[in-house]
Amino acid sequence: MANKPEKFIDENGLRLDGRAVDEMRPMTIEIGVLSRADGSCYLEWGKNKILAAVYGPRELHPRRMQKPDEAIVRYRYNMAAFSVEDRARPGPSRRSIEISKVSRDAFAPIIMTKYYPSAVIDVFAEVLQADAGTRTAAINAASIALADAGIPMKGLISACAVGKVDGQLVLDLSKDEDNYGNADLPIAMTQDGEISLLQMDGNLTKEEFKKALEMATEGCRQILEIQKEALKKKFESHEEVVKSLV
Ligand code: UDP
Repeated sequence: MANKPEKFIDENGLRLDGRAVDEMRPMTIEIGVLSRADGSCYLEWGKNKILAAVYGPRELHPRRMQKPDEAIVRYRYNMAAFSVEDRARPGPSRRSIEISKVSRDAFAPIIMTKYYPSAVIDVFAEVLQADAGTRTAAINAASIALADAGIPMKGLISACAVGKVDGQLVLDLSKDEDNYGNADLPIAMTQDGEISLLQMDGNLTKEEFKKALEMATEGCRQILEIQKEALKKKFESHEEVVKSLV
């Protein structure tokens, strides 16, 4: 692990990677990258690299696990062994089980499960390269993969983290800021601003918490635009195919 930097924010108010305190790392989204999945997405966010795949809705086996009036959603967050500096131990860990659970719950307000009784929708989020913020990056990718799979949803979910370094709130923590910072607050929300995931490490005052929520809301708004733009690009190209057929 790198040594703790002396200062995280310089005299010009810029962070170690040159970003302003309210600036996100660049994000790129590619849709439909896996031919065997019903929906998929490859997302890069700074140095984070995430692959999300969605399978379903399909009949759930064993049958005793089925819900007769709606589909169940399963979400698996996984870090590849080679995704971090010290090799990640393959298989589920307490951390990945927790992240999978809260991430699945983050989609509860939008996935219209009632349309698919007795079915299952499987979401896989594979972290290929990690650099802090992987749970939020995975949620952003999963949201797009679900849309690509044609799962009926009330909207998209967008997620980002706000943290505190050198006593200042910063949007979208980098690895060093996450490791040595004073707080980390990952948040996911619907496009109407309903919070569907909120976790917190460290300490914030009431005022800081309020400001952090505002910063995260603005971050999620920016991510939503990037997500919508990526979907629009894919949808528009489909529209052209459809037009050429009729
Ligand atoms: N990390 C790591 N090994 C692990 C877990 C995490 O090196 O087993 C790194 C990784 O870069 C991750 C960061 O620590 O992105 C922050 O992890 P955290 O648990 O805060 O989750 P995240 O911010 O990725 O959602």
